[in-house]
Amino acid sequence: MKNSEYKIRVAQWEAAQFWENYGISSPKDLCLEDIALARGVLVKEGPLQGMDARLIRKGNKGLIRVKDDIPEYGRKRFAIAHELGHWELHKDISQLFTCTEKDFMAKYKGSIEEIEANYFAVSLLMPENHFKTRSQGLPMSLGTVKELADYFITSLTATARRYTELSEDYCAIVCSEGGQIKWFQASDNFMSCFWISPGRKLNKNTIAGELFSHDGACLTKPEKIDILAWSEKNDCKGQNEFIEESIYMPKYQQVFSLLYLP
Ligand SMILES: [Zn+2]
Repeated sequence: MKNSEYKIRVAQWEAAQFWENYGISSPKDLCLEDIALARGVLVKEGPLQGMDARLIRKGNKGLIRVKDDIPEYGRKRFAIAHELGHWELHKDISQLFTCTEKDFMAKYKGSIEEIEANYFAVSLLMPENHFKTRSQGLPMSLGTVKELADYFITSLTATARRYTELSEDYCAIVCSEGGQIKWFQASDNFMSCFWISPGRKLNKNTIAGELFSHDGACLTKPEKIDILAWSEKNDCKGQNEFIEESIYMPKYQQVFSLLYLP
C-alpha cells in the first residue's frame, strides 16, 4: 500500500471513530460545533478574505473560522468537518490551515493534507456503511440525491459525489461552468465504459448546454440524451442513451448534471 493510500485510510478510520466515541447514531445528532468543542476547538462564523475556512492551533486549543456567506448549510458543515480533519490529522505539520472551496474538492490532486482532510470530512458526514444502508434500493436520480442530502445534512454536490463513489450502478456527476465541463466523478462501472473530458465545451444537445445558453432560464426534467453527446466513448453494449438531469446553480454560475443509464 502506498503511503498516500495508508494516510487516507487513517483519515477515514479516525472519522469513523467519532461516531463510535460520541455515541452518534444519526446525522442529525452529529453536531459538529459540539464535537469540535469537545476536542478543544471553537467554531466561529465570520468574514474571511481569500479563503472559505481556517484553522488556527495553539497548543491543545484551536479555532476554526468559517466564512459566513457560504450560501448552503451543507457546505458550511463540510468546511467545518474538513478543518476538524486538519485538527485531528495534522498537528505536527502546521499550526495554520487556510482552505478554499478548491481545497474542499481535492480528491486526487492537491496536497495530501487537503485530500486527507476531505476524506475525513466525507467519512465523518456520510459514513460508508450508513450511506450504503440509507441509499440501498434508491436508484440514482436528483430526487435520491436530494433525499440523501436532506438526511445527511450535506450539499447536493458532496452527496452526489459520495453516491457515485459507493454505487455499483453506471452513474456520474458532472460540474460545468461557463459552458465547459469543469470536473466529473463517476462510479467504477461508469468509468469502465465511458469517459468525459474536463475542459471540453458542452455539446449543444445536452441539457446542461441548453441551460447555459438560456442562463438557466428553462425548465428541466430528466431526459434521454445520446451517450456520445457527453462521453468520448461508449463501451457499453446495447446502450445508446443516458438519462440526464441537470440543474443550474445561479449562485455559483454552474450546472450540475447527473448522468445514469435508463
Ligand atoms: Zn484544508
